[in-house]
Amino acid sequence: MSWSAYGLRKDWNHAKDEVAPWWGKNSKEAYSSGLANLATALANWSSSRSGKRKGPKVHFPRFKNKRTRLSCRFTTGAFGLVGADRRHVKLPRIGLVRTHESTRKLARRIEAGTARIRSATVTFRSGRWFVSFSVDVVRSDPAPTLSESVVGVDLGIKSLAVLSTGEVVQNPKHLEHALKKLRRLGRQASRRHGPDRRSGQQPSNRWRQTQARIARLHAYVANARQNGLHKLSTTLVCANTVVVVEDLNVAGMMRNRRLARHIAGAGMGEFRRQLKYKADRSGVRVHVADRWYPSSKTCSACGVVKAKLRLSERIFTCASCGIRIDRDLNAARNLAALVEASSPSCGATENEPDGNPCQTRTARATGTATGRPPREWRGSTSTPRGVDSGHVLHDS
Ligand SMILES: [Zn+2]
Repeated sequence: MSWSAYGLRKDWNHAKDEVAPWWGKNSKEAYSSGLANLATALANWSSSRSGKRKGPKVHFPRFKNKRTRLSCRFTTGAFGLVGADRRHVKLPRIGLVRTHESTRKLARRIEAGTARIRSATVTFRSGRWFVSFSVDVVRSDPAPTLSESVVGVDLGIKSLAVLSTGEVVQNPKHLEHALKKLRRLGRQASRRHGPDRRSGQQPSNRWRQTQARIARLHAYVANARQNGLHKLSTTLVCANTVVVVEDLNVAGMMRNRRLARHIAGAGMGEFRRQLKYKADRSGVRVHVADRWYPSSKTCSACGVVKAKLRLSERIFTCASCGIRIDRDLNAARNLAALVEASSPSCGATENEPDGNPCQTRTARATGTATGRPPREWRGSTSTPRGVDSGHVLHDS
């Protein structure tokens, strides 16, 4: 049996009359997008098993049923935006569907000829149907501002981000605020009759209702978090030419069970992802400081590195110059200084054609690690921020 999307589709076409006589009721894209995903999953699994694929191990694809995430991708046939009211989407087999949000932004681009719809994906997520379009777009990004401005961003849990300008972005803690409701709904669900695989008991309708409420609340939290991160990353990219962030070991920190919920709640990994693609778009440099750069322990005024700094010390006090400064602000200033000191050697990014000239790691870019080599620290992955090693990477 061939594992290519083409081969799977051929087998399906042979078997469909026998195994699924109802196939004609659905769009053929429902089957072909499922088979295309299956082909990708199988290819990922086999390349992971033979060691050709980097990253974590990929398991054999699991079977899907109608209770897992429903989605279907339309690539052929008549679909797109219709109607002058900009509120309707046309989908093959399904027909005209009214949208909750206006589609005017995409519609304007299509009318102006700067965008072309390639595919439409329909998904069902936590009680709502979504349609997303994959679009070929001619982007007209504003040219980067000429005056160089560097901002250092210290990500944290207490406040989501502290900028080297002194600006503090509060952590909205959406999940913490929803936890009370979530716990209540969890108790409610436990009183209702859920499914039981051993006795074959079907879940009651009221259990399903509670589960739907829980899913909606989780979706609300995720959306609120995403919204805040998008606002922060957009403001940073719009107002600066260089953004300096730390290389946080998010996966390692998530293994610490006391920190995991708070780190997931802050969405640090997602922030980095957003920052990177937005910066690439608008010609802004993202400088990632080395994971072992002691941004918290260095004095931002005189450059002396402390040997030890406990996470509970919220105020950084320098023994040699006597400065008293907020711990996170100190770290953010150090991050900004990292680029301000080394920017002439890095050169301007505007001339670079593509790729990521900005993703230079500090340790390699600005000199040698004079202290313990970072390699020996690679073993202990679950080092949370602020408990990092104290070697000097650059002398200022
Ligand atoms: Zn000092």
